[in-house]
Amino acid sequence: MDYFDIAETWSRDQIAEEQVKRLRENIKHACKAPFYAKRFADAGISPESIHAPEDIQKLPFMCKDDLRACYPYALSCVDKSEFVRMHCSSGTTGSPVAICYTKRDLEKWADLMARSMYTAGLRKTDIFQNMSGYGLFTGGLGIHYGSERLGMMTIPAGAGNTRRQIKLINDFGVTAVHILPSYAMHVAEQVRVMGADPRKLPIKRALVGAEPYTEETRKRIEEMLDIKVFNNFGMSEMNGPGVGIECEAQGGMHVWEDAYILEIIDPETGRLVPDGEIGELTLTTLTREGMPVLRYRTHDLTRIIPGECPCGRKHRRIDRILGRSDDMFILKGVNIYPMQIEQVLMSYPEVGQNYLIQLESDGQRDTMRVKVEIREENFVEDMRVLRALQERIARRLFDEILVTPIVDLVQANSLPQSDGKAKRVIDLRVKQ
Ligand code: ADP
Ligand code: ZN
Repeated sequence: MDYFDIAETWSRDQIAEEQVKRLRENIKHACKAPFYAKRFADAGISPESIHAPEDIQKLPFMCKDDLRACYPYALSCVDKSEFVRMHCSSGTTGSPVAICYTKRDLEKWADLMARSMYTAGLRKTDIFQNMSGYGLFTGGLGIHYGSERLGMMTIPAGAGNTRRQIKLINDFGVTAVHILPSYAMHVAEQVRVMGADPRKLPIKRALVGAEPYTEETRKRIEEMLDIKVFNNFGMSEMNGPGVGIECEAQGGMHVWEDAYILEIIDPETGRLVPDGEIGELTLTTLTREGMPVLRYRTHDLTRIIPGECPCGRKHRRIDRILGRSDDMFILKGVNIYPMQIEQVLMSYPEVGQNYLIQLESDGQRDTMRVKVEIREENFVEDMRVLRALQERIARRLFDEILVTPIVDLVQANSLPQSDGKAKRVIDLRVKQ
């Protein structure tokens, strides 16, 4: 196996052995924060409680509200003067949580990120453009330092200003990028609008993540730009990107189990679900000294992909994130995830890059309106063709979610395009 870090080659036994050692040290270290000292004392947990990685299940869960309650410094396990940086979550689902990093934390994070990039086939010889927002969002500096650690020439383009992004890609011969899925499709479309062929850009590979997207969307981005797309996962609470990445096989994301303990739990019972079954991703930092986070319920829904990866890495793989449990909305008693809708929409070649789900109500009846951008060449078709397409999409959506939506076909580039994470659902229902 071609690897960046020796830990990628570890056997399951080696991973388990290190996890036990690191988890013990971590529990001891975490108790420097009164928050953990009290929790672990209440639960009767000490480093000696851990004999196998599975003993993590003895620890109490943490959730976002714990992190909010500990804002800004209550999770610190080092003297404040040891901190050299902080990041915040993007606040997609409420008030932000903040993580402070020591110098060593940043080193380890950059190592994990560089390892992730290498696993996705990026090399020192690549020219890399980071097309996600910088600032408090971890996808900026987190990716940036990883890319420099790998030794790639790195262009900190940030998000937005699409024409300049495209110019930089062409001028500097950019071969690899980090980009959000919604923005990747937008960029490809803009190249076309400018009269060029997006497949002729020099880009070969992209790390795509930070928000959920479907396999259909991956194929689309790959096709539109003639590149390979590697799913890339992370969250501020776990440093940021660099938690999991797809390898050359593109069959799910290896979670770096020397740095994180991975569990998939049943959100109702809190018990582990069998491999292959969908549940809530729960993660524990193993190497972070500034603010360790143990047994954190991420709200992200995914499953462990059973079996071994052809690449030879034994770090287990998770499937693409279906969404957060709080992305789910209920319409007429049915639980629906935006990704179920995206999956249907993106399977139609006539459908363009963007869509928006609007939940409406007249006080008595709830309805779902799906606004879908249609490709320019299809939008000029005659009314009957468009009407038929509209009906086909509505029927397929009904098959998937068992609710009949109103489907509005709208012009390409007419829906709001975000520089950061896309907002897929707007709830306009009257609250009772
Ligand atoms: P926020 O929770 O405010 O969005 P972050 O910027 O830390 O803050 O984002 C982390 C979240 O982004 C994850 O919990 C997950 O929901 C989502 N995410 C990150 N990477 C991916 C990915 N590859 N696929 C799907 N969702 C992702
Ligand atoms: Zn692999």
